[in-house]
Amino acid sequence: MPIRLLSTEVASQIAAGEVIERPASVVKELFENSLDAGAKTITIHVEEAGKKLIEISDDGLGIPSDELELAVSRHATSKLVRSEDLFSISTLGFRGEALASIGSVSRMTITSRVKTEKEGARLKVESGKPGKLIKVGTTVGTTVRVEDLFYNVPARLKFLKADVTERRAIDSLVTRYALAYPDKRFKLSEGKNVALQTSGDGDRRAILAALYGVDVAKQMLEIMAEEEGFRLTGFISPTSLTRSNRKEITFFINGRWVHDVSLSTALLQAYHTLLMVGRYPMTALFLEIDPHDVDVNVHPAKAEVRFRNQNKIFSFIQRSARKALLAYSPVPNVAPSLWGTTRTIPSESSSSVGLDWKIGHDKIIETGDQRLATENQSPISNSPFQPSSFSRIPLLRLIGQIGATYLVAEGPDGLYLVDQHAAHERVLFEKLMTQHEMKKIPSQSLLTPATVTLPPQTTQLLITQLPILNHFGFDVEEFGPNTFQVRAMPALFAGSDPSAALRALVEDFEEDETPLQNEIEKKLAARVCKRMAVRGGMALNNEEQRALITDLEACDSPRTCPHGRPTMIHLSVDMLERQFGRRGAR
Ligand code: ADP
Ligand code: MG
Repeated sequence: MPIRLLSTEVASQIAAGEVIERPASVVKELFENSLDAGAKTITIHVEEAGKKLIEISDDGLGIPSDELELAVSRHATSKLVRSEDLFSISTLGFRGEALASIGSVSRMTITSRVKTEKEGARLKVESGKPGKLIKVGTTVGTTVRVEDLFYNVPARLKFLKADVTERRAIDSLVTRYALAYPDKRFKLSEGKNVALQTSGDGDRRAILAALYGVDVAKQMLEIMAEEEGFRLTGFISPTSLTRSNRKEITFFINGRWVHDVSLSTALLQAYHTLLMVGRYPMTALFLEIDPHDVDVNVHPAKAEVRFRNQNKIFSFIQRSARKALLAYSPVPNVAPSLWGTTRTIPSESSSSVGLDWKIGHDKIIETGDQRLATENQSPISNSPFQPSSFSRIPLLRLIGQIGATYLVAEGPDGLYLVDQHAAHERVLFEKLMTQHEMKKIPSQSLLTPATVTLPPQTTQLLITQLPILNHFGFDVEEFGPNTFQVRAMPALFAGSDPSAALRALVEDFEEDETPLQNEIEKKLAARVCKRMAVRGGMALNNEEQRALITDLEACDSPRTCPHGRPTMIHLSVDMLERQFGRRGAR
């Protein structure tokens, strides 16, 4: 065959293939346009998962009628003039390709009006060919109607997934954008159902509830971090809330949803040692950085980006996430069931925002309820020996202490080496939090009150925290300038040094630039437990050793300390056999 230039129609369809892969890509491009046009309200309606119809209306600036034809032609954009502008892009679109692409693979109708014109205009495009522009009466803003997507590209049509899948893709996309733009009103309807409706009042957690259900949304940890020109906001799941894949890890950069492996790697590092193997967190994180520091022009659908300061950004993300995780501590629920009360499994599906396309709530496993939840599914997955940082440990037979630091014990599945300090930290923490949740922390008065003098900068901070300390069974009072008196402390810590406890409590106050207020209690508890726990290097008598092991067995998350470090090393029988060359020898 001789070489020839492709017809415009074929060329357009090829180009469209890069941008428009499925109905959700149409939705994405169109509402990105609406967002770029400054719309406050965006309404999306789809029929048959978008295969038959996608219609998006906005109240943005609109397109002047004499520019409408240009808007649908390839490489026509109002967002970019010079090539230098490519490196300071603050709009979502800039390639001038979306409308042309969509128009070439569907029957598209655009109706639009700008404020300065009395009438609007309407233009139909079929297989990339614009029809005649007609004048119509309409409100300011733009409506794009896309019918019969891929009707002229049967090969594409064949690649589309079942309606449920395509619908879920649209749903998850719109919900995530709604999260990224909580100040905009989004409405998504499918056929007669309203799948998502947001109020535009800026409340991200309400939208999160639409995405994950109310109970999960409640547990998600909020992040707010700022550093040298970077800002990170959004939500990450506590370590108890995981999925079996990375699909729920989402990142937005400057309002654009990007899929960047290295960003999720940075995030996963923050969860290091806190999640069991093969489990992944759920996140909706929004990073804002100077547009000059990120190149968004590396992917046709603009889904990938490149950073100028890659390492700095990664470490920022990792640190911010880690900090939030540790601040909340990896024990979201201290199981009152240990103490004789029954617990209820929270229902997951109830959503106040009326989402009726369920988005995989099924895979969520919550720590506290893990036993209960898995029992219902498969008894095998409930093996007490699975290498999870959360699963309970089996009953152990104490063998003894080594190096005055580690306890050695035998379990049904091999040898356990327990770090006495980390283990005790975990035990104290769970006890304290359980008492706290039941609102009765036994307090013990000191025979001689301890007087503690603190550096002036911590004094103010301590004063603001006094009510919390009282909750926790401390009785602390101001006793002169920068001086406090400890009169009572939690009975759990009886016999420990009260001034050390107080110092532990204020130690890190300075560092917490934005203390996550509602979780400050857990943080304080973790801190004081760390200080009060037996240290490594302390010989424990037999009874003490046994008590520690028994207490640890009773813990809900016995495998890590409240700061996420492991409390134990497990040498399985299997591993011992292999190490000694017994395996296969028989
Ligand atoms: P891009 O967004 O990359 O500029 P598009 O093909 O998506 O390219 O859109 C072409 C142009 O049409 C945009 O630059 C914008 O000027 C105009 N346009 C598209 N959609 C809208 C809308 N909803 N409201 C206002 N203008 C729009
Ligand atoms: Mg666009």
